[in-house]
Amino acid sequence: MSNSFINLTYDDILTADTNYYRETSENSEQTSLIGNKTFEVAIVGGGLSGLATAKFLADLGQKDIAIIEQHHVGWGASGRNGGEVIPGTMVAVKRIARTYGLNRAKELYDLSALGVDLVISTAQALGIECDIKQGYLSVIEPHGFSQDYLKKEIETLEKIGNPATIKNADDVQAMLGSYEGRYEGGIYYEKGYHFHPLKYLYGLKKHLVKNGVSIFEKTPCIHFEEKKDNITVKTPQGTITAKKIIFCGDSYLGTLVPFLRRKYVLIRNAIIATEPIAEEIKLLPSDVCVSELTGKLLFYRKTVDNRLLLGGGDNIGHHDDLMRNKEQTKDLCQKAINTLFPQIKDAEITHVWGGYIGVTPNYLPYVGSQNGRIYYMGGYSGHGVNLTHIMGKLVAHAVHEGHAGTNSAFDQIKHFPLPGTGRLDAYLARIGMALETIRERIG
Ligand SMILES: Cc1cc2nc3c(=O)[nH]c(=O)nc-3n(C[C@H](O)[C@H](O)[C@H](O)COP(=O)(O)OP(=O)(O)OC[C@H]3O[C@@H](n4cnc5c(N)ncnc54)[C@H](O)[C@@H]3O)c2cc1C
Repeated sequence: MSNSFINLTYDDILTADTNYYRETSENSEQTSLIGNKTFEVAIVGGGLSGLATAKFLADLGQKDIAIIEQHHVGWGASGRNGGEVIPGTMVAVKRIARTYGLNRAKELYDLSALGVDLVISTAQALGIECDIKQGYLSVIEPHGFSQDYLKKEIETLEKIGNPATIKNADDVQAMLGSYEGRYEGGIYYEKGYHFHPLKYLYGLKKHLVKNGVSIFEKTPCIHFEEKKDNITVKTPQGTITAKKIIFCGDSYLGTLVPFLRRKYVLIRNAIIATEPIAEEIKLLPSDVCVSELTGKLLFYRKTVDNRLLLGGGDNIGHHDDLMRNKEQTKDLCQKAINTLFPQIKDAEITHVWGGYIGVTPNYLPYVGSQNGRIYYMGGYSGHGVNLTHIMGKLVAHAVHEGHAGTNSAFDQIKHFPLPGTGRLDAYLARIGMALETIRERIG
């Protein structure tokens, strides 16, 4: 197999490198690859997937690991996201249970919950200060089907041994300090958290470098070639020869590996941060992170310096400028703030940024390998913080122990290739969202 890298455009907020996280954290010294080097394992992508996989591989005793990152650690979705470390996947468990059966739903949910534990326990064990706070509330806007939807979701969570707490409209309003009547209820997860993803990644990078992992930043993989006994990775100023390669580029990998680009559509997502809000103003008094289960699919939380961080997606992939153009995105987020938290409508929006999310047709992640030498994972569909860690752990075991699959429920999920390697993203996303709305109403 031999392929070349086609890059994304770098002219909008989805790729621009300024955001709240970058401003409030500091990367350590960066090294680029110069010359030709040999490693046992090469990882392409310096986000949560790449660094978590390297960590779990190193924990297993694997030596000679290299990470190649085209910009800097955390440049992709991992250093741009909402910072919500929450269990589950993009799909409600009741829907997974209906499609794949209760046992599979339990396996997948348990894996995702383990992913959450892995993030939090890694930060704690390595002493990474990354502003961790506990509590996650998944809320639902008033619809004809809201109460039934919540009830069925809670019942399924109980059946799979992961009970969560149901909240009515008053509870939700008290927890959030939001506009009255905005939400009909929600589900509270004690084992959900939020954090500063880039502080976490920079801390993890320091740990890896200290433990002998080579991290090459400003080093794009522009081409790779599979040979009889190894794989050669070409970069602008040198090459890496490795026995195994793991692709962790997710939605920023472009068409470097064409069959991976057929597994997902790119959805744009944008975030804003406000100036710090005065303590006396009642905003998110419970300090949980929040995401909307239905409706506008907004997510939001407070940062440690008391800013509101709020984001959402261009979920149907139309409007070419939407979520690319800073001023337009700012206006959209301002409108959301005005209706959600009118008490802070005059707060200045100080940061606007965004990123791409790779969404698979079934909203579940993909993982696998070719020949037990080329491994890949991604398609987290907006729930990547937990999934990068559980996938990273499973792939680390597969690579180290020399098997092709992860021997987990993730291997059983079928992913059918999409047409058009990205050219039809907007249309496919629109069709997908329409189908999703129908499925949601069915239950
Ligand atoms: C705005 C936004 C908000 C989100 N909010 C949340 C949230 O609150 N909770 C949650 O669970 N998930 C969230 N997500 C999703 C989550 O951030 C991602 O699923 C996760 O970060 C993916 O991690 P990754 O390491 O696989 O990919 P990325 O973080 O995208 O990293 C991939 C890296 O690979 C590099 N790369 C690509 N190609 C090459 C190449 N050829 N050579 C070298 N390097 C290359 C890129 O530069 C990039 O740094 C959000 C995503 C976005 C965009």
